[in-house]
Amino acid sequence: MDGRVYNFNPGPATLPLDVLRQAQQELLNYKGTGMSVMEMSHRSKDFEAIVHEAEALCKAIAGIGDDYRVLFLQGGASMQFALIPYNFLPVGTHAYYAVTGNFAEKAFAEAQRAGLAKMAVSTAADKHNRIPAQHELNFPPEAAYLHITTNNTVYGTEWHYIPETNGVPLIADMSSNIFSRPLDYGKFALAYAGAQKNLGPAGVTLVIVRKSMLEKVPEDLPNMFSYKVMAKQNSLYNTPPTFGIYMLKLVLEWLKDLGGLPAIARQNREKAGMIYAAIDNSDGFYRGHAQKESRSLMNITFHLPSGELEQKFVAEAAAKGLVGLKGYRTVGGIRASVYNAMPRAGCELLATFMDDFAGKNR
Ligand SMILES: *Cc1c(COP(=O)(O)O)cnc(C)c1O
Repeated sequence: MDGRVYNFNPGPATLPLDVLRQAQQELLNYKGTGMSVMEMSHRSKDFEAIVHEAEALCKAIAGIGDDYRVLFLQGGASMQFALIPYNFLPVGTHAYYAVTGNFAEKAFAEAQRAGLAKMAVSTAADKHNRIPAQHELNFPPEAAYLHITTNNTVYGTEWHYIPETNGVPLIADMSSNIFSRPLDYGKFALAYAGAQKNLGPAGVTLVIVRKSMLEKVPEDLPNMFSYKVMAKQNSLYNTPPTFGIYMLKLVLEWLKDLGGLPAIARQNREKAGMIYAAIDNSDGFYRGHAQKESRSLMNITFHLPSGELEQKFVAEAAAKGLVGLKGYRTVGGIRASVYNAMPRAGCELLATFMDDFAGKNR
């Protein structure tokens, strides 16, 4: 495989090899234009076609219709943490946040700076090792919105249900599990994701927003902060991250050709299943961080009996071409990020390595 490794990094993360090959092939001369997409005017017909196709692919994959817009923005998911309250949290109203991990905490903190934000629930007392049940979510019917983080990248937990909000707009940070399985996207008023985990390279941020939400956007916002302006200008208000959008489009074509969300979900369940089986069959040598019902199919987090063994694990895995397994600094341990583009063979090799390592170091 050209000396490539199995890259378990949490993001930026591994991309499909076929996509990289296609980008390489088209790099010097994109479809007879005589230039790279990187060198192309964002106002050109060729680039506008890329944006249109990317939007159409997103809608087809998500199964959403013309009551939604798809935007390609900058600033990462972290920028959306701030833009969401500026756009949808008018003075005198409250927004509610389910605080289930590191990024959820950051989103909540940004909303508190921009307006009145409250916690609908926090799982901090459980070290964010679980997803709260519906009955734990506290928010009133007049809430401006409820914000959730559908996959907690650092802790390795994932929402396996969509909360019922009874009309309160539901907003979700889907950075680390977007398009990883079938989901009723029509239940979300707004969903967003930094591309660098499941969609493409860093630098572009996907926002899926219900059109009716755009009517709530204040007119006096700076243009660059306004979802309404960005939608009206088809993500071309200013120069967008053109190459990133092109790469995202290639990744979505790859996903569609593979069979879309049902097909990728089957693969993801199998892939994560092999690694969770290695944890569960290790007689306690590996200790998973997440409670079983809350386990993420994208980020698998676990500890070994000691920090020394964890260091040894990471080093020996790297020598076998399994890289990027060190856990997040605040949680420690091991984290295997197995997004859509991680090949099954990488998970198989990791699971086998885990069995061997446990046998030798128990
Ligand atoms: C990675 C990540 C972020 C941060 O994304 P940036 O694009 O770096 O701002 C936010 N939320 C979640 C769930 C993430 O996984």
